[in-house]
Amino acid sequence: MRTGDPVARLTLEQKASLTSGSDFWHTQPVEEAGVAAIMLADGPTGLRKQAGESGLSLGMGQSVPATCFPTATTLGSSWDPDLVERVAAAIAREARAEGVSVVLAPGVNIKRSPLCGRNFEYLSEDPYLSGELGLAFVRGLQTQGVGASVKHFAANNAETDRMRLSADVDERTLHEIYLAAFERVVTAGDPWTVMASYNKINGTYATENAWLLRDVLRDTWGFDGVVVSDWGAVHDRAAALRGGTDLAMPPFGDDDTVVDAVHAGTLSESVVDEAVRRVLALVARAGAAAGDDDPDEKNTFSEEARLSHHELAREAAVAGSVLLKNDPVGGAPLLPLSESADVLVVGELARTPRFQGSGSSRVNPTQVDVPLDALRATWGDDLPFEPGYTLDGTPEEDRTLRAAAVEAARADRTVVCLLGLPESYESEGYDRTHLDLPPAQVELVQELVAANPRVVVVLANGGIITPVAWSREVPALLEAWLAGQAVGSAIADLLSGRAEPTGRLAETIPFRLEDTPAYLDFPGHLGHSRYGEGVFVGYRYYDVKHIPPAYPFGHGLGYTTFAQGDLAVDVAGEGDEVRATVSVTVTNTGSRTGTEVVQVYVSDLESPVARPERELKGFARVTLDPGASQRVVLELGPRAFAYWHPVLRRWVVEPGTFTVSIGASSADLRRSVTVTVEGTRVRTPLSAESTVAEWSADPVGGPLLARAFGGGAALTDNPMAAEVPLGVLAGLAGFPRANVDVLVDAANPDDEGDDATR
Ligand code: BGC
Repeated sequence: MRTGDPVARLTLEQKASLTSGSDFWHTQPVEEAGVAAIMLADGPTGLRKQAGESGLSLGMGQSVPATCFPTATTLGSSWDPDLVERVAAAIAREARAEGVSVVLAPGVNIKRSPLCGRNFEYLSEDPYLSGELGLAFVRGLQTQGVGASVKHFAANNAETDRMRLSADVDERTLHEIYLAAFERVVTAGDPWTVMASYNKINGTYATENAWLLRDVLRDTWGFDGVVVSDWGAVHDRAAALRGGTDLAMPPFGDDDTVVDAVHAGTLSESVVDEAVRRVLALVARAGAAAGDDDPDEKNTFSEEARLSHHELAREAAVAGSVLLKNDPVGGAPLLPLSESADVLVVGELARTPRFQGSGSSRVNPTQVDVPLDALRATWGDDLPFEPGYTLDGTPEEDRTLRAAAVEAARADRTVVCLLGLPESYESEGYDRTHLDLPPAQVELVQELVAANPRVVVVLANGGIITPVAWSREVPALLEAWLAGQAVGSAIADLLSGRAEPTGRLAETIPFRLEDTPAYLDFPGHLGHSRYGEGVFVGYRYYDVKHIPPAYPFGHGLGYTTFAQGDLAVDVAGEGDEVRATVSVTVTNTGSRTGTEVVQVYVSDLESPVARPERELKGFARVTLDPGASQRVVLELGPRAFAYWHPVLRRWVVEPGTFTVSIGASSADLRRSVTVTVEGTRVRTPLSAESTVAEWSADPVGGPLLARAFGGGAALTDNPMAAEVPLGVLAGLAGFPRANVDVLVDAANPDDEGDDATR
């Protein structure tokens, strides 16, 4: 032990106790050793600090009032790291005022299937976007002295059987899709903690998965914070410690199991020490950051701060709302609506809004802006309203309400209809089985558009819905997601044009559930979910299969129009050092100030592995006055060109040509440039299993083979021989096996480096 090492002063029993919580939300204090306890609390949409000692984590216990910000779906759709950072900073300030040291957020899991009941807690189907926004979230929390817990590590993409299911995923897919956002956040954001998920990865629980937690997270990415288990994700304390989980939350089993395992020799004491050292460092970090904060002093949060956080929630709701459609009616797009327009509001969700998800992220809001009230504040107190449907009533009740709403819609006015998923349709803890709105709402909107050509639909849902069955005749469709506690005022801002919807889809909206990438194996069977679609998740899948989506990834309209042109791409450096500078001129060609999200996609034109047609590698938001132009410059690093090589088991940038495109969505590319990248020529090791063709094509192996067999060309010219592994060829030819081994050694003079040969 090192002198001064705080771990050296603790008994084994004390150390064992520090690797689990003291209660549902606190770490274990050790008073004799001067170790304080710290508090951890959810979560991604706002602070959920449970009042009292409630041990129920699934949103059932009452929590202290806190600002309910928009869900991650909205934040993801904002494509705005600065905004996400400000939201997280506000959550941190509220946490700090409540003596909470670590906020259990952000969730950066990839939306593999739209059926995942918890998609509202995740940012995107794309790892680059998730990584950038997740990083911004961590920075927002931690610059305020509150630690992040990046979750749920890893491949936790379904709620069904979530505490046991094995995500069976190949290593390349893990690195390129499911780990990439975590990697970005960990390597650039230094999160205080990472939360190991409930599920198994390739058969081993995440909390016990040494490959995941030690090889990848610690050794490759350099993570030195605490790995905390998801709540109840530990099955065996010693196995979790061995696997790399430092802190089991909430308290699980008896600390003696850890002590006994050390005595029995099945758990090395140094593994316990390592975990304890990290927990102590976390406690110290939290103590230093909290400074003079008095965790027992409640209500330190001022009314002024509360109101400014509400305003921030409103700004975020606006920024992440996506205008899917805004067709002209009578010569002009239906939205925005003038404040003197004759409007009818329809939909129970207008007076009973749904603005957050269910489960551990559920916040007790400080106030709620009800849409109907906010719309009346804009269009007058006498603005008519028809509920149109119930959220949990009978078909008979729905029919009566529908008839009244359709009758009211027959007048010469604009109908603003709020639709969405009822609470029971999506939640943490279970998955969805379809992507439809409730039938009563679909029937309502179909009858409304038949009665009135001026129908605006505003949607409230955390996971996507497929609008195909009813949206064709609807001229304006605004996806407001689960917009947080300022939902009402945000919707009024957007519909009236006081604000522009600047969101862009962070996830593809398909026409049909059957078109989705994981359709054949979501959520899985017999305890396993086979990620057979590989890296082809989200738009990567629709692109390669040529399945046109209802609304593509990156899509979103505003109240003005933009041109993107004059694309230039300058490439510098090579291989792992390659960088590219992308510049493009953006011009507001409409008549209002507005915001464009410039998206950069990169395509690898030739590769030994199947690569997506294009992948998002950069984006920027630009706000411009009418007629104004701006030159936007984006920097791409080596990862923009790299893929995970499944044989070399690392990232490689191969030499060759790539296409760099800019556009307004993954399906609306405006300009493309083809560039040449000086990559590192990759040579995979040659073995006895490598074929004659592979040996012959190799600059070192080819001549060796030719010499050994007296005429390599003759061998490869024979198409039957070309596919024969060297070991088999040698056996058939009576060539001694020892000589094969000599050949293999000679062919791989340096199989550590890039010039290792095959
Ligand atoms: C969830 C986590 C959450 C934890 C604590 C778990 O059920 O999966 O996201 O942070 O509970 O509430």
